[in-house]
Amino acid sequence: MASSRSQDSDAPNPSARLEEILNDKIRIQELPDSDQEYEDISPEEEAHMAYLESVKIPIVDTFQTDSSEAQDETLEAVLPFLEGNPNDYPLNEFGIPHLQKEKHIKFLQKALGDYPAPFAMMDASRPWIVYWSLQGLSVLGYPIHEYGERVIHTFKLAQHPNGGYGGNYGHLPHLAATYAAVLSIVMVSYPNKPSTYDSINRKTLWHFLGQLKQADGGFNMTSGGEEDIRGAYCALIVLSLLDLPIELPPDAPARKQGLTTFLDNLGSWISKCQAFDGGISAAPGNEAHGAYAFCGLGALSILGAPTDTLHKYLDMNRLIHWLSARQCAPEGGYNGRTNKLVDGCYSHWVGGCWALVEAAIPPKDPHSTIWNRDALARYILAAAQFPKGGLVDKPGKRPDAYHTCYNLAGLSAAQHKYIYDAKRDTVSNNLDAPFHWYAKGKFEGGTKIWAEEDEIKNVHPVFVIPFGKVEQCREYFEGKDRKGFWDGAEGG
Ligand SMILES: [Zn+2]
Repeated sequence: MASSRSQDSDAPNPSARLEEILNDKIRIQELPDSDQEYEDISPEEEAHMAYLESVKIPIVDTFQTDSSEAQDETLEAVLPFLEGNPNDYPLNEFGIPHLQKEKHIKFLQKALGDYPAPFAMMDASRPWIVYWSLQGLSVLGYPIHEYGERVIHTFKLAQHPNGGYGGNYGHLPHLAATYAAVLSIVMVSYPNKPSTYDSINRKTLWHFLGQLKQADGGFNMTSGGEEDIRGAYCALIVLSLLDLPIELPPDAPARKQGLTTFLDNLGSWISKCQAFDGGISAAPGNEAHGAYAFCGLGALSILGAPTDTLHKYLDMNRLIHWLSARQCAPEGGYNGRTNKLVDGCYSHWVGGCWALVEAAIPPKDPHSTIWNRDALARYILAAAQFPKGGLVDKPGKRPDAYHTCYNLAGLSAAQHKYIYDAKRDTVSNNLDAPFHWYAKGKFEGGTKIWAEEDEIKNVHPVFVIPFGKVEQCREYFEGKDRKGFWDGAEGG
């Protein structure tokens, strides 16, 4: 506790400011004293209390702001779920709620159905709803091939005649919608049924991407739209997975400014997105954010081997410091920005960064890890499950496909180990870095808190879809002739 720290005679004298904080009794807040609440405390509950005792932050500055009040309210909402089991879930042998797999599957199946009128605001998010639901079902081990025909039908209608996919039928093409649409199609495709892969018009897609490449190296999200790091990640995912030519199409505007490939100036543009505090932001000069950190690391991991590109374009020490600071204590889950609240979706956006970081800086001991996987899994299992199915941002919120998908991706990241093997015999050398990964089984270090039946499938750390689907897709398109891309210079 802080008070004992101040009496430690070996410690250097605290600054006047620190002394003031330490001496002000009001500033030192204990976590809720629940002795009376838990008179008949079970061994599991005792273990939870010991855990919370070990991670709690001793000093809470009483300078009140909107942020500090929101944080106090969040802690109040989350703590009962870490201390006990308010939803009465069946517990695993570690006293932590089991993953409610069947309920989450039912929730995601429903998410692929019809929506009531208030969801009209989600009209432009159709590809995302499909992607989140299919990826969530896959990681839970549910066979998604039954959705194949519907998915292909949906995206045939959302594919724009000039290339790329819109957020819904008749919408203009957008890179985020294109990313979600392509990943969804790839998840339900099989090499022995080429019509599914071939529903993607790669040539027009290539021309669409060519319209988005900017002279400074980045990508716009849509023609005339904003340039940010999502663009870099989404464009590279599509270029790499579908084995598109990395040369810019002849009609790409960036050619007029001397660029010849999609990769020109890209690494240095991503580098400029690293903020002063070590995190990665949407665009140079912006505030660092967890989801943009994942996009930046993902893009660099496609551009080349993470062992090279991450060190070349990022200050890794500062990045690791910033990523680590996103894990909230005692909540255990991640927030997305400095002074923000824990939120289940960052289980992936920040939790998913670690596999890429660990590939660049492999831990010496294969059983060790540089992030706290157990604390994240504890937050997801204990606090982020919704009793009727689906996963949430934080207790008190409603579940949705987005938070379900990314909580599960974070849980999977905590449970699995991924290795980047530079020597791995892989596809041709056209943006081949993300095909050098393999899943090396379960993570066995740390404090065990999940049971075997709480384990879920592995997820490709760069593409965030099943491993097998990534490899099948690239192999399929590598067999295709790319010569036709150059016919008709104006494209179409
Ligand atoms: Zn969220």
